[in-house]
Amino acid sequence: MPPSTSISTQWLHLLPSVERVLQQLGAQAEFQSFSHGKQREILRDMVRATLADLRQQLRLMEDEPTPEYLWQTITGRVRAGLQQRQRPSLLPVINATGVVLHTNLGRAPLAPAALAAVAEVAGAYTNLEYDLEEGKRGHRHVHCETLLKELLGSEAAVVVNNCAAAVLLILDTFCQGGEVLLSRGELIEIGGGFRIPEVLRKSGATLREVGTTNKTRLADYREALSPNTKMILRVHPSNFRLIGFSQSPSREELVGLARETGILTCEDVGSGALVDLTGCGFAEPMAKDAIAAGFDLVAFSGDKLLGGPQAGIIAGRRTALDEIRRNHLLRALRVDKLTYAALEATLRVYADGQAFEQVPALAALSLSPRELASRANSLRNRLRVRFRKLGIHCETELMKGFSLVGGGSAPQAQLPTTLVGLQPAEFSAAELETRLRAANPPVIVRVENDHVWLDLRTVLPGQERPLLETICTVF
Ligand SMILES: *Cc1c(COP(=O)(O)O)cnc(C)c1O
Repeated sequence: MPPSTSISTQWLHLLPSVERVLQQLGAQAEFQSFSHGKQREILRDMVRATLADLRQQLRLMEDEPTPEYLWQTITGRVRAGLQQRQRPSLLPVINATGVVLHTNLGRAPLAPAALAAVAEVAGAYTNLEYDLEEGKRGHRHVHCETLLKELLGSEAAVVVNNCAAAVLLILDTFCQGGEVLLSRGELIEIGGGFRIPEVLRKSGATLREVGTTNKTRLADYREALSPNTKMILRVHPSNFRLIGFSQSPSREELVGLARETGILTCEDVGSGALVDLTGCGFAEPMAKDAIAAGFDLVAFSGDKLLGGPQAGIIAGRRTALDEIRRNHLLRALRVDKLTYAALEATLRVYADGQAFEQVPALAALSLSPRELASRANSLRNRLRVRFRKLGIHCETELMKGFSLVGGGSAPQAQLPTTLVGLQPAEFSAAELETRLRAANPPVIVRVENDHVWLDLRTVLPGQERPLLETICTVF
């Protein structure tokens, strides 16, 4: 029978009233906590919305719905609605992509010591801006400085909201109304629309491009100098690489030129490795090398290769940092006690020589191919046993592959890993990906060649079991 064009009201009388539903649900244990005050209002609103939706559907329904069908539908939808309402917007997810510093997944997970430090200060008053020795107002910008100086070999350091804020603050402090020299090979955009030329413009400085995209010589910098030049800026190209016929002056050459002419040098090293990562199979510039080469200022992120909270670190000469501390813009870019707590604890892990063991991002980057193969094999075996037991039809396999560093670091580095492949018999890999993403906890995976691929490099210790359980729930 074709659907009737006139709106039917024939089943509407079957729908219970809001009061009736509330009574019925109130008798069930799972809705007990919604019997008073604000909670009761929430339940009433949810019931009302559910009945309104159902009313629309009943108008289009051809066959008479049974009372059981109606009650089950109402209870199910109210339950789901209440759960959805409770679900936080920001959730932990399982990162099975193998991208270690996945910007969309919040970059670096924190070290246990950082978590403990955050928990310690979060619910208490702190000496954030209070000098405990003098018993009077102090400065928040002293926190983390001692450890940063020790780890970077710099005279001073200050923490701001992120590396973009660090660069903005540096340019705003020293380059307003002046020119900044930057190689054309370093005119970059970083994920999320951070474009060095735009940041320069915001700070009121003028960009003076130097050299060509692939070759910039010291002589090019020298020629570009004018009485209005304030700074030589060097930016780590992060997410892309110039390969082949390319050249740029060394840090020492740039420092030499800047000192001749009395201008500042600054390097945005981006990812901010505090330790040598060549053992992990790739090389990223270290902030302390820029300091050692004589750069006046360096800036880098706290949540990339450092593996801490979102933060931007500015380190360098005492006199330069003093000027930055006097800039009122710092007030808008400062960090809170939670960031200081997490960052300080993370830096202490480095100072204690425990970074590769304790900082999750570094631990993930240094996992050996053998360890990853063994974990993948074990997960695959456990999945097969479970699938057989539950009657789930899904092929599993192992394949050699690569993990990525992410976070705009070492884009060409391919870290060998073993991937666990899943190919469901009854629906597509794309559908499996969607279901895993909707699961609790959400599991984020790669899809290729009609397979879902899991890389255990980024599945944190303690998440392997929830990963297994979650996969079994989505078929
Ligand atoms: C990532 C990056 C930034 C931006 O860092 P945030 O901490 O995300 O603000 C700036 N400069 C370089 C070179 C980078 O790699």
